Amino acid sequence: MNHYPASIRSLIHHLSRLPGVGEKTAERLALHLLHAPEASVEELARSILEVKRKVRLCSRCFSLSDQELCPLCSNPARDASRVCVVEQPGDLVAVEKSGAFNGNYHVLSGVISPLHGVGPDDIRVRELLSRVASGGVQEVVIATGTSVEGESTAAYIAERLAAFPVRVTRIAAGVPMGGDLKFVDPVTLRKAMEARRVFE
Ligand SMILES: [Zn+2]
Repeated sequence: MNHYPASIRSLIHHLSRLPGVGEKTAERLALHLLHAPEASVEELARSILEVKRKVRLCSRCFSLSDQELCPLCSNPARDASRVCVVEQPGDLVAVEKSGAFNGNYHVLSGVISPLHGVGPDDIRVRELLSRVASGGVQEVVIATGTSVEGESTAAYIAERLAAFPVRVTRIAAGVPMGGDLKFVDPVTLRKAMEARRVFE
């Protein structure tokens, strides 16, 4: 790598820190950018900056948005009486791809994990409870992953929701144990969503 000028070495270094990009791929990308038309490189740089500057969290469901409310929350065609609770924005995208759910979402931004020092107050459980308390929600579908943390987070949320007149369901098996929602194929996820059950 040392035979490259410093500016290219720096670009390779930064690209190689992206997830899934090793040194070899970073080198290929850097050389590709070097030879690409200046206008398209400028566009790429601008869109990276725009994501950083514009994207924030939806004030209702905490998914990614470039408005106060995300496109899902502001869509009147979605059934706002049903809220699907997921761990991360990527999981929301996975459920959306399954096409099995027409309600709104609530992104927890993590799972309860005592091992990693993450307690209920470190994820957005409180926000979910106050959302349910403010009324209008009839069903909460808990779609956290099936890892130990995902299951215990689901159990904790169900317990806290027991105080409210709301139906609490959990997506059914079909999602592999220990699995991450975003790696589950849409058909499996659709089945899991359709076979959701009342949380016990
Ligand atoms: Zn939203």
